Amino acid sequence: MIEFSLSKRQLQLRDMVRAFAESVVRPLALTWDREHRIDEAFLSNFVAMAAQMGGPAASWGVQGLGAGNAEPGRPETSAAKKSGSANLTTVLSAEELAWGDAALLLNLPGPGLGGPPVRATGTPEQKERFFSIFRDMSKGLKWGAYALTEPGAGSDVAGIRTSCRRDGSDWVLSGRKCYITNGARADWNVVFATVDPALGRAGHRAFVVEKGTPGFTVGKIEDKMGLRASETAELVLDDVRVPADNLLGGDEKYTNKEGFMTAMKTFDNTRPLVAAMAIGIGRAAYEYARDFAKRNYALARHTPRYAAIAERLARTGRQLEAARLVTWQAAWLADQEKPNAKEASMSKAMGGQAAIRACIEAIEICGVEGTLQRDHQLLEKWFRDIKVYDIFEGTGQIQRIVISKRLFEGLKSF
Ligand SMILES: Cc1cc2nc3c(=O)[nH]c(=O)nc-3n(C[C@H](O)[C@H](O)[C@H](O)COP(=O)(O)OP(=O)(O)OC[C@H]3O[C@@H](n4cnc5c(N)ncnc54)[C@H](O)[C@@H]3O)c2cc1C
Repeated sequence: MIEFSLSKRQLQLRDMVRAFAESVVRPLALTWDREHRIDEAFLSNFVAMAAQMGGPAASWGVQGLGAGNAEPGRPETSAAKKSGSANLTTVLSAEELAWGDAALLLNLPGPGLGGPPVRATGTPEQKERFFSIFRDMSKGLKWGAYALTEPGAGSDVAGIRTSCRRDGSDWVLSGRKCYITNGARADWNVVFATVDPALGRAGHRAFVVEKGTPGFTVGKIEDKMGLRASETAELVLDDVRVPADNLLGGDEKYTNKEGFMTAMKTFDNTRPLVAAMAIGIGRAAYEYARDFAKRNYALARHTPRYAAIAERLARTGRQLEAARLVTWQAAWLADQEKPNAKEASMSKAMGGQAAIRACIEAIEICGVEGTLQRDHQLLEKWFRDIKVYDIFEGTGQIQRIVISKRLFEGLKSF
């Protein structure tokens, strides 16, 4: 059976997030962009408000990006998890909030991209220890982060050089991580390292490194073209001693390339989410251009120029819709605990491209008007924000490589 309808609960959540995005988030988006930050008072209020509406901020389906469950560390109590729809619900919220401002999503307190590897690989004790800090944020906001990328190892994940060696009851980590979302503010980072680069993927290990651990410091904070209100940090590890208890899953987990698989499993959850965010930005640009065309070309309906604009908008609309459907499919498969690597990569490849296209088309349709920085005029911001959606969580090219590998693997059944 193929089912495209959303549950009553999902529709309510989507409408609520949409209204919030329109009335609260949009008016602040340019200020955050200019200030390169979202102030913690706003984030605290957001967490408190979401809690009042029934549960932690996660009831909005966004805490713990890619987590797919509403309460980090307590999946069994989450209504969405029980009904097997947590990933899809998260994706719905993510599109709406990104339609308001994608940087807000990346700023939300919670385990963030660090959540999926802890959830996928951590022992019950580790999940309790690392997720419990997010349960009550009334006394201070908490973040987690995911540190895989290094100078020289972005797409080529297997090529990481950050080293780890066992020393008594500790591991000692040394190396450098770059472009880490929320890396500087995070209370803990999931850091990927290798026991021996010559072992490739088999040498990978995943550790939780807590803020303040001696030798673990923040390098530069990047100044970016887009998503300027989201922190992107360099992290330096200089003989950092991490207790063996912080090796995710314990030693026995790493007999079969499990460290590398942990990184990849994270992507299967987070790529649909990143795709949904891209679609939210693309939809915002598309709607802006559609309304601009309605306002400005009303008298030109019978001219070829109007037909050309209408055709461009129609193409943008159907590309966004197609990307959304495959994104929902990838999230739904994750909810059913079925393999979704191919669909996750498809969603990321299609979502990023459709949204980039939507932003380019919108700027072209609006002309110079679309490039101006004016209060409440977000098109030029969306244009700056969107490019990175075809870069982080695996570039568009890498998604296409993953997809083609999966298609060839599945030749017999395809
Ligand atoms: C805003 C932002 C936030 C980020 N957040 C995080 C984070 O939280 N944690 C984290 O670990 N990382 C994070 N990253 C890093 C991100 O995941 C990497 O930038 C990304 O994986 C690409 O790596 P790279 O920049 O080194 O590019 P490269 O891997 O050097 O790629 C450069 C170009 O070469 C192409 N290419 C590379 N290999 C191939 C190939 N085999 N075949 C064809 N083409 C290829 C790529 O598609 C790309 O076009 C973030 C990046 C940004 C910009």
